[in-house]
Amino acid sequence: MRKTPILLGVVLACMPGITSAALSRQVVNYDIHVRLHPETKTLEGRETLVWLNDSNTEVTELPFHLYLNAFKNNRTTFMKESGGLSRGFKADDANWGRITVRSIRLRNGPDLTPTLAYAAPDDGNPDDQTVMRVTLPAPVKPGESAALEIDFEAKLPKVFARSGFVGNFFMAGQWFPKIGVLREGVWNCHQYHAQSEFFADYGVFTVEITVPEAYVVGATGRRVKESRNADGTKSLVYFQEDVHDFAWTTCPDFVESRERFTLDEPKVDTEMIFLVHRAHLGQRDRYVRALRQGLEFYSKKYGAYPYGTITLVDPAPGGMGAGGMEYPTLFTAGTMSFMPRGLRMPEMVTIHEFGHGYWYGIVGSNEFEEAWLDEGINTYSEIKAMSLYYGADRAMIDFPGLKIGDFSYQRLATIGSGRFDPIVRKSWDYISGSSYSLNVYSKAGIMLLTLERVLGEDVMARVMRTYFETWKFRHPRTEDFVRTAEETSGRGLGWFFDQVLHSPDKLDYAVTGLRSEEVQEPKGIFDGKAAAAGKSKTETAAGVDRRTARKPAFRNTVVVARLGEWVFPQEIKVTFADGKEVRETWDGRDRWKKFVYTLPVKLASAQVDPENRYLLDVNFANNSRTLAPTPWAARKYALGFMGWVQHLLSFVSL
Ligand SMILES: [Zn+2]
Repeated sequence: MRKTPILLGVVLACMPGITSAALSRQVVNYDIHVRLHPETKTLEGRETLVWLNDSNTEVTELPFHLYLNAFKNNRTTFMKESGGLSRGFKADDANWGRITVRSIRLRNGPDLTPTLAYAAPDDGNPDDQTVMRVTLPAPVKPGESAALEIDFEAKLPKVFARSGFVGNFFMAGQWFPKIGVLREGVWNCHQYHAQSEFFADYGVFTVEITVPEAYVVGATGRRVKESRNADGTKSLVYFQEDVHDFAWTTCPDFVESRERFTLDEPKVDTEMIFLVHRAHLGQRDRYVRALRQGLEFYSKKYGAYPYGTITLVDPAPGGMGAGGMEYPTLFTAGTMSFMPRGLRMPEMVTIHEFGHGYWYGIVGSNEFEEAWLDEGINTYSEIKAMSLYYGADRAMIDFPGLKIGDFSYQRLATIGSGRFDPIVRKSWDYISGSSYSLNVYSKAGIMLLTLERVLGEDVMARVMRTYFETWKFRHPRTEDFVRTAEETSGRGLGWFFDQVLHSPDKLDYAVTGLRSEEVQEPKGIFDGKAAAAGKSKTETAAGVDRRTARKPAFRNTVVVARLGEWVFPQEIKVTFADGKEVRETWDGRDRWKKFVYTLPVKLASAQVDPENRYLLDVNFANNSRTLAPTPWAARKYALGFMGWVQHLLSFVSL
């Protein structure tokens, strides 16, 4: 093969990754010019990409994501897996989407277009064109860069899954040819799946967007230039460093407003940009308040928000398929024209999607392969933020007589997560879309809340901060989270993580038996001994001496059982009728364990996990039993009712 020096036409000094102020390795540097043609719903793009080989391996092939091809026909992997449905929104047969690479060449060098081939590394689907590869005439060596020039045209689908249009609203997400991630010398470039999100490398984006003058634009990063063109269009240039994706949106019916957010500790100074559709203007204040809360909560808990802007996009009516989605420094929220204050959907979506700016944006885990690292950690964060600002018992729904907190909502979903899949699994390997989301969002979130109760709140806070600090602008894996948790807490947590992350089973401990029987006076025949001597050691041992022998004694039995497969060490609280308490411990391994007390008093109640640490336990109602009517009994009825509601809800897809 012929060596081509032009391939490496980038001087070291301007190579990404070595500027001192950079927060990330800056493996990619994109410069894109894109023009929207609203009538045909198409984008015309010119992209220059400088890609740094930051590995120890030389490469001769470059893979790119062409995500919009997921919407090209009904045989793509995305459409086959989803059946054309995404979160309840349906694909429109009359408005397919696609992206066509017209040409790809090395800057000032050979045309690579003839080498362009589609690949389907995950499922071999010949009808899927969401990944393309080009072959280079000569390898890019470690530390060297390749500069590519790509011409492309994209047609946006009618929006139902994140990206597309409805009327004059356009959401351009995953819209340009995006290079895969070279990880330890191997390309990671998956197809677009129904249940997967994304993965890309950090770098610098400069994007010039041209739209008709009347259109309002929002995009990743800061607007650095704006000019009007003779043809009735305008061109806006956006710039952002240390992000791994770039998204933009436009609509003439957006109303743009800006507010500053500042914080002293830690130091944050950023501009909040709101693009609210005029149909939803009445709810702007709800978005503003929630975004302020998100910025404050995440900055204080994990680390200062590092970017100069954060843009909230409120999709047009009918465009909710684009809603609730994160991109670096920009996210889509969502609401409806009528949204009572007691339904906190706009607040929850705002805090959740802003939160992805941390778990996905700044800490760049692989959403294809380990979605819990962004969705689960973010659900955990969302529950804590929502509970803090809106009340633990009413964060999601808050009407007189009907209140539901975010924790209860996510726990119900956890219970409905089934026993098919573990939390860690490739996104497209889950048995169903609901199994994916119930596991990687809700169950993973509740798992982290359980870990917090096992470690204690202070230790958990340190774990999360350390994980954020260590892995920001990098690509951690599950093992990295586990290692951070173990090292920071100084505890071996294999027993916890091995089960909760990798086994699809359940945690369920119960008090299954509770009995108090009066100890009978000895009766009958006892060979060669006086009747009184016939008492067993156990029955006489516990406080039944001569003076009290005539008073009744009780043989009190408590049986606790492991009903699920997961083994968690247990504490058991046993309460007697005189109010005395005994605490027992059990390693939780056997299927059951019996505790016997012979005493002059009867049992009152017994409870496993009395501190309620194991929030993953799928049935709180069986955690306790009571003999005598006590105040606890009333509470148990309440728990029983909740258990029943949970059971009912487990059949509903959440
Ligand atoms: Zn999410």
